[in-house]
Amino acid sequence: MNIALFGPPGAGKGTQAKELSNHYKIPHISTGDILRANVRDGTELGLKAKKYMDKGELVPDEVLIGLIRNRLTEPDCGQGYLLDGYPRTIPQADALSDILQDIKKPLDAVINIEVSDEELVKRLSGRRSCSCGESYHIMFNPPDKEGICDSCGAELYQRDDDREDVIRQRLAVYNEKTKPLIDYYDNAGLLVNVDGSGTVEAVFEDICRIMDQFK
Ligand code: ADP
Ligand code: AMP
Repeated sequence: MNIALFGPPGAGKGTQAKELSNHYKIPHISTGDILRANVRDGTELGLKAKKYMDKGELVPDEVLIGLIRNRLTEPDCGQGYLLDGYPRTIPQADALSDILQDIKKPLDAVINIEVSDEELVKRLSGRRSCSCGESYHIMFNPPDKEGICDSCGAELYQRDDDREDVIRQRLAVYNEKTKPLIDYYDNAGLLVNVDGSGTVEAVFEDICRIMDQFK
């Protein structure tokens, strides 16, 4: 099953991808998580990426294209993959289609999670994240114990780019550079829209109905 989860920052891609990855036993590939791990580890890639991430800008295409090519050729992608946060530009999407042709794993669907801008701002400003990749919301999806990850027990933190001014910038970048991919994948016959405004469980069920077709 070869799927890309698509949508603006805060739509719920990471939240859904975690559950879907467990349910369908395919790897969750979040370029944001990979970049943040590199920032934490102080790698050359992390140092380069941080200055863009902190400002709510996209990291340059050539960096992301190399990163995703390496990740998709790892052995755990044999049964499929679940992309989250990639592609975000037309050049990234063109490169993805070349990579997927090379490894003979073309996309089955691009699932577009739709949420209003007003709701996105609420979701991002209340998000609390864990270095293990889990994310919570102080109101909508709180952990069992305040400030602690249910899954690994680590202390939760607020991402630097989840501050109101950076959130606005990320939404503007989404509208300018990423949203055009909706038409791109619609024209390719791969786009499926999902209403992302319901509960985490309701959105999960809707996505499973789509993904079950590709089992
Ligand atoms: P993305 O990966 O698309 O940027 P996340 O999955 O991190 O988004 O979700 C953003 C925030 O919204 C998180 O705090 C998450 O707990 C919360 N969230 C996710 N899905 C829902 C939902 N269906 N209803 C309410 N809050 C949600
Ligand atoms: P995310 O965790 O998906 O919200 O991504 C956090 C940040 O990482 C983004 O605001 C970008 O700076 C960077 N990033 C993640 N994925 C990409 C991508 N595909 N292209 C460019 N930058 C990315």
